[in-house]
Amino acid sequence: MTNHTRLVQQLQQLDGKGYKAYKAIRGGYDFPQFTLMIDRVQGDPFAKPSQCRVLIPQDIAGFPADLYGNFSREVGLRDFLTRQFHQFAQREQRRSGTGNSGLIAIAPPGPEILERTAAFIDDAQVEVRFWIGLPARGRRIAGGQAVDLLCEQIPQLVEGMLYAQLPTQALQHHIDTHEDADWLRQQLPTRGLVAFVADGAILPRRSGIDSRPLEAATSFQSPESLRVSFDCPHQGLITGMGIPTGITLIVGGGYHGKSTLLKALELGIYNHIPGDGREFVVTDADAVKIRAEEGRPVTNLDLSPFINHLPHQQTTTQFWTTNASGSTSQAANIIEALELEAKVLLIDEDTTATNLMIRDRRMQSLIAKDQEPITPLIDQIRPLSEEHGVSSILVMGGSGDYFEVADTVIAMSAYRPENVTEQAHAIAAQYPIDRTCEAGQPIGTKQSRILQLHPSALEWKGRPAKVKVHELREIILGRNAIDLSQVEQLVESGQLRAIAAAILYLHQFPPPNLNFAHAIQAILSQLATDGLSTLNPFPEGDFVTFRRFELAAALNRWRDLKLED
Ligand code: ADP
Ligand code: MG
Repeated sequence: MTNHTRLVQQLQQLDGKGYKAYKAIRGGYDFPQFTLMIDRVQGDPFAKPSQCRVLIPQDIAGFPADLYGNFSREVGLRDFLTRQFHQFAQREQRRSGTGNSGLIAIAPPGPEILERTAAFIDDAQVEVRFWIGLPARGRRIAGGQAVDLLCEQIPQLVEGMLYAQLPTQALQHHIDTHEDADWLRQQLPTRGLVAFVADGAILPRRSGIDSRPLEAATSFQSPESLRVSFDCPHQGLITGMGIPTGITLIVGGGYHGKSTLLKALELGIYNHIPGDGREFVVTDADAVKIRAEEGRPVTNLDLSPFINHLPHQQTTTQFWTTNASGSTSQAANIIEALELEAKVLLIDEDTTATNLMIRDRRMQSLIAKDQEPITPLIDQIRPLSEEHGVSSILVMGGSGDYFEVADTVIAMSAYRPENVTEQAHAIAAQYPIDRTCEAGQPIGTKQSRILQLHPSALEWKGRPAKVKVHELREIILGRNAIDLSQVEQLVESGQLRAIAAAILYLHQFPPPNLNFAHAIQAILSQLATDGLSTLNPFPEGDFVTFRRFELAAALNRWRDLKLED
């Protein structure tokens, strides 16, 4: 390890030289309070910024062990540290010069509290990973400015990250809120629930691109008959609406808040930061959003529970397409979620294929069953719930046909939920729909798909494929883009980066059992024990945790995926 004074001299000597000469500063430097690691040095002032880490020993950082005493608290604390650094960096960085000169940045966190590779803590040290833009004038090294950045600003940032400097109340509250939400989610099954929405929660967001809570929103109030209470470890008693296992419909007029409620439930698989409004909106961790997704590929999937005897005898027990229709894509999304043992399906009429949801009596009379390949979900939803323990929550404002199969019916009226289960059942009895149940192939959760991992799929013209991520939309892997724009439970681009790394990892270290679901489970359990850093030997700062469903979603949408029986 080199002393930091040596870094100062080195930077002064580099002043005015060509930018590439910065490469010489890669390495580790001892500062009085911490170690600075410069892991990757950018090639020019406009390139991806240089990657650094600071390692602060605990005798200086001073975090009480209780703050990271279990995994839940550790993730809460790491998330808080990431946000602090993000705030300081935004405030303190002094941008001047060419390209990204002077930049200090950490992977920006959204409103979800997530395990990320931006910050770590243990009994030995605190580690923060971030990027800096090494300063340039034109394409020449700005040595003095670099000294200022590396040897003045970074030590100042580190100073601000010490426990003694942090707002301890906010930090404690952040960790406690996260731990309470984790605790709540664990309690759900013991209460026969799949989701909980606290009284007082704020569900709507400011806009599609602004995830802050909507100002002056109507706060959530549970109907009396669905109200449950929990005695949380930190927050104490909280009450709210419990959504029971089974089949739940959310009905109500247009614009009354149905989709907003479902969206909150979709993201209730994650915990939210204090002030978000959804701190105590929690959904079963294995809840999966299902939607129609026209155009996605499907690879060797048994779709027969939903699609059969297609024209031209195309088999549906091993179904392939490069371009699925609305109904086929939605069926594939359901079957793939079940393959990974989803426990709850979340469906919004706004984004479904009607012909996969329902076939009413009139249509059954006009078009004979043997002329209709599709078995609608209405005929598979009860077996799913009763035989496989898979619950469903459906937003359905436009059709009452599901009243028959629903266990719970919630009506949204001016953003307030009412329990209308009894009325809905009475109406179903009064106006029978007399349709014929069309369930043909039993619905199952097993698929026999085996991953065929060809390293050549990850090469492009004989070289390792370039991996790129475009925001939340897509992963580019060599010659193909994986379109994830319709996978709605992804919330940070760092999740896509980690998923891309997981796909590479899977090819490098194939698990012993290559059954699709088993292989994915194997990676996820390894990440659960060894952490996200396992995915790459390089100390990446922008990996964010993901679920098995989203890794599967990426593989399932990869046009180079090879699966055999
Ligand atoms: P629906 O699905 O029933 O048609 P949405 O959930 O799309 O309705 O909501 C319609 C509009 O109402 C959205 O712009 C949303 O932001 C707003 N909204 C939803 N819930 C609330 C609330 N609790 N308070 C205020 N506005 C809300
Ligand atoms: Mg809607």
